[in-house]
Amino acid sequence: MKKEIDLMNMYADSQDDYYDDSKILPKADDPKIMKRKNRSIRWISFFFLAVFIGLIAYLVYFQAVESTRFENSSYNRRRLDLLSEKYIRGSIYSADGQRLAYTDTEGAEEVRVYPYGRMFAHVVGYSANGGSGIEGACHSKLLSCHANALYRASTVLKNEKLTGDNVYVTLRTDLQESAYNALGSNRGAVVILDVKTGAVLAMVSQPDYDPNEILANWDYYTSDDDAVESLLLNRATQGVYPPGSTFKIFSALTYLRENNCQTDGYSYDCSGSIEHDGNVIRCYNSNRHGQLDLKQSFAKSCNSSFVNIGLSIKRSDLIDICESFHFNRKLDLLLPTSTSRFLLTEDTDSYELMQTVIGQGKTLVTPVQMAMTAAAIANDGKLMKPYFIDHVETFKGVTISKTFTKSYGKVMTDEEVSVMHDLMKEVVLSGTATSLSRGNYTAAGKTGSAEFGTQGDSHSWFVGYAPAENPEIAICVLVEGAGSGAEHAVPITGKILNDYYN
Ligand SMILES: [Zn+2]
Repeated sequence: MKKEIDLMNMYADSQDDYYDDSKILPKADDPKIMKRKNRSIRWISFFFLAVFIGLIAYLVYFQAVESTRFENSSYNRRRLDLLSEKYIRGSIYSADGQRLAYTDTEGAEEVRVYPYGRMFAHVVGYSANGGSGIEGACHSKLLSCHANALYRASTVLKNEKLTGDNVYVTLRTDLQESAYNALGSNRGAVVILDVKTGAVLAMVSQPDYDPNEILANWDYYTSDDDAVESLLLNRATQGVYPPGSTFKIFSALTYLRENNCQTDGYSYDCSGSIEHDGNVIRCYNSNRHGQLDLKQSFAKSCNSSFVNIGLSIKRSDLIDICESFHFNRKLDLLLPTSTSRFLLTEDTDSYELMQTVIGQGKTLVTPVQMAMTAAAIANDGKLMKPYFIDHVETFKGVTISKTFTKSYGKVMTDEEVSVMHDLMKEVVLSGTATSLSRGNYTAAGKTGSAEFGTQGDSHSWFVGYAPAENPEIAICVLVEGAGSGAEHAVPITGKILNDYYN
């Protein structure tokens, strides 16, 4: 004890001997020192506060954004496997309440079931091996449980799996079935949108596959064979094609914008082709359309008249209009989506300009892009962002999140919309889509026969909406390599609309 005290004294002494700071340093309560000290404490506090805020922000960001990407990454299979040990994957329901995907837990092993098989193949996708379609994009929603705490606690205590949340999509089984049957075995795509909201009501891509058998045939589907690989491609969002005459929508709109929507001043005498700077563009099948106004040029899809228009408009106006419709911009949809390309510039040569204004040239579009375009005309010029998920519910039916619709903005004036309606209606009344005037519905739109390759083959397009007055749905039909729009895409559209309005 004594020793201890001595040691303490010694220490105290030594402190006094060597550290008599009262002599060297100013006093601690010196106002200058106090100020400096307070300032450094403040800086340290700020530093830690900043670190803390940064950490919180990162966690929130990670939860909201990165974790979804992280969980959805097909490279993160291990994480998905771990979640699958904890949750029974939730179901995907259509807008009309039908189960599009669910997990069957009856057998020894859980099995993911797709009751509609091939019909929803590309859009709903599959969950196995990283997943695709809505399945692939919604791992984090389907493999989590927001049911009440009591259920979760008791389930975990019983060492059982939690039942995952259910995703309710915007797709309708009746429209999807009509679109699927109408497209049949044609290679191509159909997209149907709600014109007011942008909700995707139907999305079909051909050729297809059976998601119920994807796992059993995995090696086959992932082989290097191009033909097989293309079965998994969702042509509606990932396929890019020359738009053909459906592009005349943008050329006509540019003319209207530059001419205050006055169509009276326009006339053109079509002799079946037009020549400029030594280059010749022909009308489809070299048809001589004769004397045309703007409406008839559009309805009969006269290439010569539209090249004539194209040579008169300002390129910058056409470029601005295309960009306002989201060309050259990422769409950022739920599913992998290609960007529609419009490459015309002030320096592009006149032959390419002549081709571009009739939808040839270097322009490439996705079917979903063209469905959005038709929907914008039908929706008073407002371009809506397409979406697939309506809401997410717990398995007990409590809504936990709902999608808000998003507008990319008004891309046409009311006057422009009004004239474009007239042009699109005329296509059905007297133009290239008159077969749509015989149904129990009314429709408006634009056909396209987009040439590709060197053999004179063409993709067949129709983009439009119904009913012609007070439109509800916008539709895009693309048939690869089929021929003219009138002969293929229009009858397919007719079948879908017939079904829908019966
Ligand atoms: Zn012509």
